[in-house]
Amino acid sequence: MSSTIHLSYYATSFVWLQKSVEMGDAPSKAFLASYFLYRGARAAAAGVAEDAARGFELLRQAFAEGFSKAFFQIAQCYLHGVGVEKDAAHAVSLLRQAAGHGDEETPRAQAALALCYKDGVGVEADTVQAALWCQRAADSGYAIAIEMLPIIRTCDFCGTTPARQHCERCRKVRYCDAGCQAGHWKRETDPHKRHCRRRAPEASEEGTAPGGGGGGGGRGRPNLPMGSQFSEE
Ligand SMILES: [Zn+2]
Ligand SMILES: [Zn+2]
Repeated sequence: MSSTIHLSYYATSFVWLQKSVEMGDAPSKAFLASYFLYRGARAAAAGVAEDAARGFELLRQAFAEGFSKAFFQIAQCYLHGVGVEKDAAHAVSLLRQAAGHGDEETPRAQAALALCYKDGVGVEADTVQAALWCQRAADSGYAIAIEMLPIIRTCDFCGTTPARQHCERCRKVRYCDAGCQAGHWKRETDPHKRHCRRRAPEASEEGTAPGGGGGGGGRGRPNLPMGSQFSEE
């Protein structure tokens, strides 16, 4: 019963959104875009065939006409290759901008950016940046980020959360303490010493790091990367 109500609502809403778009309303373009971008009850109820490219174009127009909230969705399109050619690195640069906008979409952009850093999508994996962006989103009360935070901060050796330290050499893994780091470095199966590579020096947040030197991953390092290689947040 209630689903019938929703279906007719979507069909009616689609008609009104189209009228608003014809009148040049930018926010309506962004809302209308969702009918074309996502297959589902909404599009089916309105009898709309999925047309992701058209959806993306509507989002792009909405943003160009001043609807800044479309920014986050545009970044998601690039991230997943919906309606536009997939370009994760570009998505990350857009999310970084959206994460600084200070509007309603900001916490969502910050949480999405945290996931990119956690999984190394469109940017080199970095557990420090992942935790930082997730914390910012959680500080705004964004529920998904609050749930994500303990997962992002889980110790890569023992699974305890929150683990507040990390391997400074690669910044891809985090630990409770030096004991967990030592255990992970040399454990029998899949030891961290097999994966740990020194990060290239960072030029800036945005720019691509200049290749300079950077070679020599320093594999097979004889000692545990303690001391300066181990940082607390
Ligand atoms: Zn641990
Ligand atoms: Zn490491």
